[in-house]
Amino acid sequence: NSFLKISGIKKSFGSGENRTEVLRGIDFEVAKGEFCVLLGPSGSGKSTLLNIIGGIDSPDSGYISIDGEKTGDMDEKTLTRYRRKHLGYVFQMYNLIPNLNVKENVEVGAYLSDNPFDVDDLLKTLGLYEHRHKLPNQLSGGQQQRTSIGRAIVKNPDILLCDEPTGALDYNTSKEILKLIEDVNQKYGNTIIMVTHNDAIKNMADRTVKLRDGMIRRNIVNENKISAV
Ligand code: ADP
Ligand code: ADP
Repeated sequence: NSFLKISGIKKSFGSGENRTEVLRGIDFEVAKGEFCVLLGPSGSGKSTLLNIIGGIDSPDSGYISIDGEKTGDMDEKTLTRYRRKHLGYVFQMYNLIPNLNVKENVEVGAYLSDNPFDVDDLLKTLGLYEHRHKLPNQLSGGQQQRTSIGRAIVKNPDILLCDEPTGALDYNTSKEILKLIEDVNQKYGNTIIMVTHNDAIKNMADRTVKLRDGMIRRNIVNENKISAV
């Protein structure tokens, strides 16, 4: 009885001659609190799968169930509510609100949730407390991504979905951000699904799912990590 179940997911784009089957039957399960990483070459369907898990896109067949509830069975309004309250999203681009400072951007996330974390505590965990009055354009890329992680995690989401969160950052900053996401996972225990190309992730993840051509090539549990918890 897994927390997150991905079952028989298929997805195509286009029609007729231009129809491409991007996901060709994806099945795997993720336990509560697990840090799961999706790897695979560009075009293998990672973002599409993440969007389907996050209820942003819908599959042609198959289903996603979260804590026993199929997201496909929810009506539009219930799904939107569910997404706002229980899912957190971190993208490659930070999408911060430019005229709100760091603290206010994080508060936007808190406002959406029924049981948010304390904003100041979280800002301290993220190393942003001393920068809380700055606007996004006064921050480095890494600080902007920390703020975007803050906005997503402050909701205390059931699942944090991250799509290439280090894609726009240099090597060292990327490593810092991955470490920070690992710390968040260990400290708060939220389930995390992350798409990344970054190799530094290998020892941090509990589970690594590798896609190729819309199929799962590997689904590896990191035993060392599990036994360390
Ligand atoms: P990845 O994240 O692994 O790079 P994506 O899921 O972004 O892969 O894309 C997989 C394939 O699906 C690509 O060939 C991409 O062009 C195509 N694709 C993704 N989204 C759409 C869309 N909304 N419309 C048409 N094609 C799409
Ligand atoms: P990545 O490969 O890093 O995930 P892409 O540029 O392939 O980034 O895709 C970014 C987003 O754009 C995806 O989430 C997908 O939904 C959308 N997308 C990708 N390819 C297409 C396409 N051919 N047509 C429409 N939307 C697309």
